[in-house]
Amino acid sequence: MENCLFCKILSGEIPSQKVYENDYVYAFRDINPQAPVHVLVIPKKHLASLDDTDNASDRDLAECLRAVRLIASRENLANGYRVVSNCGPDACQSVHHLHFHIIGGRKMEEKMA
Ligand code: 5GP
Ligand code: ZN
Repeated sequence: MENCLFCKILSGEIPSQKVYENDYVYAFRDINPQAPVHVLVIPKKHLASLDDTDNASDRDLAECLRAVRLIASRENLANGYRVVSNCGPDACQSVHHLHFHIIGGRKMEEKMA
């Protein structure tokens, strides 16, 4: 997708700090971390958000969640972590390529929103 920031990160046009990659997903550190660990997991296939998953294979989606677990383990988040996917304007989604935030390394606030 032209003009998609995360597609540009995938192609290497925009640099990123890679955390994990396989045939289906790519994960990298958020440029503006909200916690000691803040990683973004994205499918390599461009999907705008969770509302766009009719265009995704089950594998594309499952690999995102498998990567979350693997990265949480590698980042030593045994005490817990939060996974967030902002979808649409009410959730303040700012990049329109599906992504899962992995946030951890400190105690989260109980209130989520
Ligand atoms: P959203 O608000 O769409 O859920 O999350 C987008 C995330 O992308 C934000 O947390 C923001 O900090 C991150 N982000 C925006 N631009 C870049 C960038 O160029 N590089 C990286 N690594 N993260 C970015
Ligand atoms: Zn994209």
